[in-house]
Amino acid sequence: MKKILIGTHNKGKFREISFLLSKKITKISPNALKIKSPKETGKTFSQNASLKAKYFSKFTKLPVISDDSGLCVKALKGKPGIFSARWAKKYGNFNKAMKIILQKLKYKKDRSATFVCSLSFKNSKGRIFTVVGRVNGSISFKIVGKKGFGYDPIFIPKSNSITFGQMPKYKKIMSDHRFIAFKKLKQKVKIL
Ligand code: IMP
Repeated sequence: MKKILIGTHNKGKFREISFLLSKKITKISPNALKIKSPKETGKTFSQNASLKAKYFSKFTKLPVISDDSGLCVKALKGKPGIFSARWAKKYGNFNKAMKIILQKLKYKKDRSATFVCSLSFKNSKGRIFTVVGRVNGSISFKIVGKKGFGYDPIFIPKSNSITFGQMPKYKKIMSDHRFIAFKKLKQKVKIL
């Protein structure tokens, strides 16, 4: 049985990446190895994803998969973007960060937004593969839905009328930015 360290402390991401990985793989969390998260000093999603893969692999010989993702709102010049988790910290929690976004968009016509995910995989020989997945959509007028995590309750993916937060769990997992990135990664890394 192959083992992979999923380099994230975010429960929502861990759940989604675990679901996408082959059932034959044993999924290890950084908590099990008592590893903390690194500082995200990159300027792009991909820089942060590979920084995380390199960081986590310092503590283990296992292959590592790591994710950097976030919500980019066009009228906010792409923010919160790579600062998506940091906005939640800055404003207190995700609910408050979502309210800030809704407030900032109150008088904006353009509510378009994109969820972006960069995934990096570092194999046990030290080779790194990095890919990006995107889902376009728009920001809802209200916070709706209790499913999912993070900014899911304010993001309506294109060609849908409900938020990620209202979607059945597996429908979201099988269509989001992480899923799109994962499909690309799987083409490069067969064992996934
Ligand atoms: P980071 O990649 O650790 O910097 O965190 C990214 C942040 O973006 C997460 O904490 C979430 O708030 C948000 N995010 C990323 N992907 C998703 C998603 O699929 N749904 C909702 N929020 C997400």
